[in-house]
Amino acid sequence: MGKEFSIIPRNVPLVDTPYRRIATALPHPDSVATLETLRRFEPQSMRGQPPIVWDRADDVFVYDKYGNRWLDWSSGVLVTNAGHGAREVRQAILDQVHSGLLHNYCFPSEERAALVECLAGLAPEGLDKVFLLTTGSEATECAIKLSRAHGLKVGGPKKIGIVGFERGFHGRTLGAQQAGGLAGQKAWIANLDPAIINAPFPDGYWQPATGFDTFLAALDRAGMRPEQVAGVIMETYQGVGPDFAPVAYVRQLADWCRQHNVVLVFDEVQAGFGRTGKFWAFEHYGTAPDLICCGKGISSSLPLSAVIGRAEIMDQFAPGSMTSTHTGNPVCCAAALASVRKILAEKLTENAAALEPALRAGLQQIQARHPDVVGRVTAKGLVAGMQIVHPGGQEPNHDLAHRIVEECYLKGLLLFAPVGAWGQTVKIAPPLTITHEALTEGLNVLAEATAAAVGNLLTDKTAAASPGRGSSPDLP
Ligand code: PMP
Repeated sequence: MGKEFSIIPRNVPLVDTPYRRIATALPHPDSVATLETLRRFEPQSMRGQPPIVWDRADDVFVYDKYGNRWLDWSSGVLVTNAGHGAREVRQAILDQVHSGLLHNYCFPSEERAALVECLAGLAPEGLDKVFLLTTGSEATECAIKLSRAHGLKVGGPKKIGIVGFERGFHGRTLGAQQAGGLAGQKAWIANLDPAIINAPFPDGYWQPATGFDTFLAALDRAGMRPEQVAGVIMETYQGVGPDFAPVAYVRQLADWCRQHNVVLVFDEVQAGFGRTGKFWAFEHYGTAPDLICCGKGISSSLPLSAVIGRAEIMDQFAPGSMTSTHTGNPVCCAAALASVRKILAEKLTENAAALEPALRAGLQQIQARHPDVVGRVTAKGLVAGMQIVHPGGQEPNHDLAHRIVEECYLKGLLLFAPVGAWGQTVKIAPPLTITHEALTEGLNVLAEATAAAVGNLLTDKTAAASPGRGSSPDLP
């Protein structure tokens, strides 16, 4: 896992369609100096994405400076739900900048008031309080803290357990990463908190048993009784898929949490703001949490996140003791308000729902052509994934997934690097403004890219098998 893309320019076939334009070698030779500067001064963890030096981005397009245009299926990383650089969002940012207020800490502002009122209005009944932060990780950390504080209050010093899910992701900070379920990424923590545990995530693929008894069994295995659990944090869908839990499972979980006075947190950092064809992804389950974590698509642009929840959980900390320096920055608030209004006014959630069948069908066609290596395809609204495996089984194949993403980039379709516990998922997440025609073109490109990557794999194998010729994965 964790390969970097080559930054050696290579000649690629020219592309010129209404949605994609590739007119130069990639990366453009003049952009290599910038790529090298980044490689010199940034940690290598920052080398993960296709080497396009972004110059501008507009709606569903990303441009470099050299006349190349990609159809964007990344939305950055599921951020630009309302489209890149939406006119309304830009204008709101400009107006706020011109108003003369760029920062006000936790001092009151009209912008913060407007946004928290708007978000509370969009949340289910009873989730009336909104705390604004900056990143998704901050929102999940805050939800963990609120859950524990609540557990201590209602159940005493033993009620501190936090249950997350295997293969889950809530961010890269200490608490968020412990509650998450990517074992490899927690190695650095070393002394894991025994009161933060993971239950199997019932996706029906990596975890075939999908009954709620698997949750109870995980508690048993950890020696944790219900009265010791303060909170359960679950991504509404796991990003690797998108993988949803069965509806019955989630309803049982919600009942169990109510019964045992456990705070139920849905992490909607990735799933919210229309992405899955419902405004909140938990609407697919017909049940609501006590706390919602938001981020990414909340603003379609500037960094902002939020925890939305019940007053008795949100109001546990005294004035001044649950704050953050950039909480509800007025420019970010203005951007978020404009983005949310655009999602609602232009019915972008509905657009995501309407395009889901086409997206799923396109991916299923690709899977039908490559059943050996496309292990699983899933789609909900405008988020989808193809999980790539080694032929004939279910062993994740990061290398092939990486090649598919690379082939797409060379053909003018932009995806971020493969994701998932083993880096096996080619993930699709265009802005929610995408049209049926653009989506169809993207699916055709993905089909060609998959065929090319699978073909290269076969060529490599033949080359490796013939004496005197080594494989050369990164050459044209
Ligand atoms: N939760 C989920 C479900 C996410 O997908 C992410 C980001 N990928 C986070 C939390 C963390 O958000 P951030 O990177 O803004 O800290």
